[in-house]
Amino acid sequence: MAETKILLSESEIPARWYNIAADMPNLPGPPLNPATGEPIGPEALAAIFPMALIEQEVSRERWIDIPEEVRELYRMWRPSPLFRAHRLEKALDTPARIYYKYEGVSPAGSHKLNTAIPQVYYNKAAGIRRIATETGAGQWGSALSMACQFFGLECTVYMVKVSYQQKPYRRILMQTFGAEVLASPSDRTQAGRAILAEDPNSLGSLGIAISEAVEDAATRADTNYALGSVLNHVLLHQTVIGLEAKLQMEKAGHYPDVVIGCCGGGSNFGGLAFPFLHDRLTKGTNVRAVAVEPEACPTLTRGAFAYDFGDTAKLTPMMQMYTLGHTFVPAGIHAGGLRYHGDSPLVSQLYHDSIVEAVAYNQTAVFEAAIQFARAEGIVPAPESSHAVRAAIDEALRCKESGEAKTILFGLSGHGHFDLAAYESYLSGSLHDVPLSDEALTQGLASLPRVGV
Ligand SMILES: *Cc1c(COP(=O)(O)O)cnc(C)c1O
Repeated sequence: MAETKILLSESEIPARWYNIAADMPNLPGPPLNPATGEPIGPEALAAIFPMALIEQEVSRERWIDIPEEVRELYRMWRPSPLFRAHRLEKALDTPARIYYKYEGVSPAGSHKLNTAIPQVYYNKAAGIRRIATETGAGQWGSALSMACQFFGLECTVYMVKVSYQQKPYRRILMQTFGAEVLASPSDRTQAGRAILAEDPNSLGSLGIAISEAVEDAATRADTNYALGSVLNHVLLHQTVIGLEAKLQMEKAGHYPDVVIGCCGGGSNFGGLAFPFLHDRLTKGTNVRAVAVEPEACPTLTRGAFAYDFGDTAKLTPMMQMYTLGHTFVPAGIHAGGLRYHGDSPLVSQLYHDSIVEAVAYNQTAVFEAAIQFARAEGIVPAPESSHAVRAAIDEALRCKESGEAKTILFGLSGHGHFDLAAYESYLSGSLHDVPLSDEALTQGLASLPRVGV
């Protein structure tokens, strides 16, 4: 039987990140000043980001060196394993070959540490002492807290209040790594106080928490802001996933027909898919890349391709992306990491140009796949990652119908050990689908700024 676990040695950790901007037929439009609507230059971002990350954000260089100190820390858990899902294939009785790249082996439990480490590294190199950020379900906050601890920086995390109340373990994990964790909206910032004045019982949203963290960073010289997804430099850092996966697939002797990843802000999907899309864009291979999102927050499949703010308070630059509108607050599905109104501009442009595909699922179908995967493979996937599991299983079932022995590669972005309450809710039959209504969609899209481009 073919190998189950395809491993690489530490020396095979990539030495360079892959920047897909070098190969894209069309680039997303430039970020725009939130107040004037004019394109902003790199210097406008310098209040909240170190110059090295701003340079990566706008870079068109195809390959960008990974600093040795970052590779050193990557060694803690990288290269991550690639698994052949023999037992799942058997359970599905499919002729398809199913592989998955598992990022849950990171000490923070997800792919987020791949970018948290370089982001803190470049901030420290720029003389920054403290980082402010937001977190939804807590994965990004945990990864950033750990990275800040490693480099000796302080970390303040604005955690969406509903998660703060419902997910104490992620909060405790962040505090264990030394972070200060505030429930957002908080009274620490003007943005937070404004929301609380309107609605003292606000449960918060990612958009609100981003406003608070950006304001915190912009108003303190010793503090910068860090974002765990969406931005070009974040997707760049995540390409270590796909670069390793390419080597591993080569060792396994198969090239994927389709690469699948769950998509919130697009970072684990882009990180896995972009190095394969490099082949498609430069060598004309026809590998498919499929982004999977929740029906409750269907940014690519039902959103608009338009300029929008990244946050509720309109503090961030406007970015050209697929969006449901910056005032949109998605239903409280368990895949907290996929509850964002916007999406990566790079992924958005590629979707707009039909280079990537997208599909959306309701959460009961997602948990059904998660349970099937856990029982076959012995790994409990994060609710976010389970969206990719659902799509991979459906692809394999289509192969069963057609008799095609396709090769499917999907990203398992994290484990679900902190999400067992969600599993309990599914197992006890109390989990319900919350697809987005047309009214809520229209209402969210009505908040799009009018930008004359
Ligand atoms: C944050 C998170 C996601 C969603 O973010 P992307 O930027 O779209 O990858 C997906 N899976 C896990 C495990 C996460 O922590």
